[in-house]
Parts: sequence; C-alpha cells; structure tokens
Amino acid sequence: MSKKFINHLSKTLAEIENDGLTKFERPIHSPQGARVQVGKEDLDQGSVLNLCANNYLGLANHRDLKAAARTGLEEYGFGMASVRFICGTQDIHLQLERRLATLLNKDDAILFAACFDANGGLFEPLLGANDGIVSDALNHASIIDGIRLCKAKRYRYANSDMQDLEKQLKQAREDGAFNLMIATDGVFSMDGYLAKLPDIVDLAKRYDAMVMVDDCHATGFMGPKGAGTPAHFGVDVDILTGTLGKALGGAIGGYIAGPQVVIDLLRQRARPYLFSNSLPPMVVKAGLAALDLIEGSDELRQQLFTNTKYWRSGLQSLGFELQPGEHPIVPVMLGEAQLAQDMATDLFKRGVYVSGFFYPVVPMGQARIRTQMNAALTIDELDFALNAFEQVGKKIGVLS
Ligand SMILES: *Cc1c(COP(=O)(O)O)cnc(C)c1O
Repeated sequence: MSKKFINHLSKTLAEIENDGLTKFERPIHSPQGARVQVGKEDLDQGSVLNLCANNYLGLANHRDLKAAARTGLEEYGFGMASVRFICGTQDIHLQLERRLATLLNKDDAILFAACFDANGGLFEPLLGANDGIVSDALNHASIIDGIRLCKAKRYRYANSDMQDLEKQLKQAREDGAFNLMIATDGVFSMDGYLAKLPDIVDLAKRYDAMVMVDDCHATGFMGPKGAGTPAHFGVDVDILTGTLGKALGGAIGGYIAGPQVVIDLLRQRARPYLFSNSLPPMVVKAGLAALDLIEGSDELRQQLFTNTKYWRSGLQSLGFELQPGEHPIVPVMLGEAQLAQDMATDLFKRGVYVSGFFYPVVPMGQARIRTQMNAALTIDELDFALNAFEQVGKKIGVLS
C-alpha cells in the first residue's frame, strides 16, 4: 500500500481522535447477561451489571436457546456453505420464516444474515425511478443505505413530525410518484420513542402510500404477544423488518415480513439474500426456541416492563431528567458530552456498565447515558444500580 494512502488514513484516524469520537471496545470475558465479567485490570470485582445491551428479554444466554442451538448443531450441522437458493435452505429455515410471519401477522417472511442486510435489500427490488420513499430523518443507518441503493426519489421528514411527513407526501404526489412508501423505525433507539404509527398509517391511507416499519427494538416485547409496535398501537402496516440480534436471542440474523408477492419477489431479487450465505442451523433453531418462549408466555415481557417501571421511577425520584416514555430504553439526559463520559466512567468503576451518547449520535447539547432494561435483571440489582447512579450523580453535580 502506498505511503500516501497510509498517511491519508492515519490523518482521518487522528481527526476522529481529536474530535473525541474514537470508539473503544471493552472485552467481556463471559456470556452476555444481566451481569458480565470484565477484565481484572478494569475493575476490582471483575464483574459489572450490564445496562447497555439490547438483550431485552434476557435470552442471550438462555438455557432453552442454548439447548436448541446444540440440537441444531448436532442434527443439522455447523454451516450451510451456500446461499439459500442453491443448496442452503433447510426445513428449519422455512419453519422459522413461517413462525415469524405468524407472529407478525403477515403472509410470509424472508431471512437475511442481519437486519442491516434486510433493510439494505428491501427497497431496490420493490421501487424504481418513478417511485418515491418518504423517510424519517432519524431512521437507522441501514434504512438510509437501503434507500440510497434504490432508484426511487427520496424525501425526508423531521423525526416524528407528522406535518412535515404530510408535506413530503404531498410533494411526492406533486412530483408524480407512481408508488409511494413511508419508511420508519418502530422505535427510535436514542430516545426510546415510538413512531407515531396511528398517524403515519392514517396519512399513508390519505396519500395512497405503503408503510414500512423497522421493528428491531420492539419485536418480541412491545405489543400483545410481542408482535411489535403495530400490535402495540393496534394498527396494520405493510412491511416489517426486524432482527434476531436483539430481543430474539441476540445472536445474528434479520428478516422482512410482508405480503406474499413482496416476499416472493425479494427471494428472486434482494441482493443480500441472493449473494450472501444462509443462516447457520444453530441460529435458526435458537430463533425457533426464542419464538416458543415469546409466544408461549407473557412472563418475560411482564418482568421486562416491571423492571422498566421500577428503574424509571427510581431514577426520577432521585431527580434525574429522563426522556419520557414506556420503552425499556431509558435515557438519562445530561447535556454536555464530558458529563456523560465522566458519569459512564465513574459508574463503571462502581460496577454499573452503561454507555454515554453524545454528538454526532445525538444532537449537540443533548448528551445522555442510555440505559436499557432487560428481563434478567433483579430488583436487588436495580437497587444497586440506582444507588450507584445516586452516588455518581451527586459527585459530578447532576443531583443536588
Ligand atoms: C439493530 C438495528 C438494525 C440492525 O440489525 P442487525 O440485525 O444487527 O443488522 C437495523 N435497524 C434498527 C432500527 C436497529 O436497531
């Protein structure tokens, strides 16, 4: 590689560091869970409470999922060494697609290696140059990239701003869009806010648009049976995308669920589906086990929301400023980036693992610590974490 190019990359890295935007990865020496082992060099006790995983239902190390993964490994082998359409489809892949479609009340579903790929492959086969996509400004990077790969005309509306959405829909209609699609996250993960689906669906009807919802931070626990944000609001949307990498076990895998023709066409045309490997049997079997747990009982969801309420009201009575809401994402608002970083560092030393978020991930002056609840946390653990938040909040002057 030329010296010139290496210098160019080094300069970019230096800029990232100078801006204080370098991301560090902290090695964990245990399975994912309510409590994780970190390096002895990090911490005296070596273990911390984890309040920053997307492990909403605590399934990432659940015995049923591990048993199912073992069965998958023994009965179906380690890998498929093929894309789906050549020789990479086992009966269990079809079962999982069927089960996801049933949970989400759609005709069919199609698996991808990740939801990033599902969103990356969704738009281009469905919409062309004469069509339009109206997208929420805070949508996940994978939706933004998926839309970029598609020839449809792009319209962006301010986050959850229904007046702006209507303005953009009007504009798209004036521009002569043939087919029109609204794309939104079901839950905006920096704030834990839900998309205003009833209003969105209503506007979609009025402007003859379809609605696509990415429900990565909702499927499995929001709404009756964990069917996600449309079920939560009691509305119907056209297309749902989601992940096996969060509440449904936390490993890997994504999917799209929708009308039969949509899924049939995606199997023919979605590039990340056609040109990327089939999901490994262990992951597929564990996904089926996750759906068994999710559909079989409300227990884990109830525990998650009991924990969420306890945590939210605990932080509130200590005097912290929170983003309002009901989702297990509970952001503690701090304002300045340095404050969020100092607080996260101090909490970690006291055995509570949280992550600070600041510009450019969130708007300038709205730095925060994003906490996330899960069903595996106990009330004692939450009390321990509340105590740590109180100590640190007082020490750094956020609480009086
Ligand atoms: C996590 C997430 C994704 C990516 O999912 P993967 O399966 O990890 O690729 C896509 N969209 C949203 C809204 C997410 O939160």
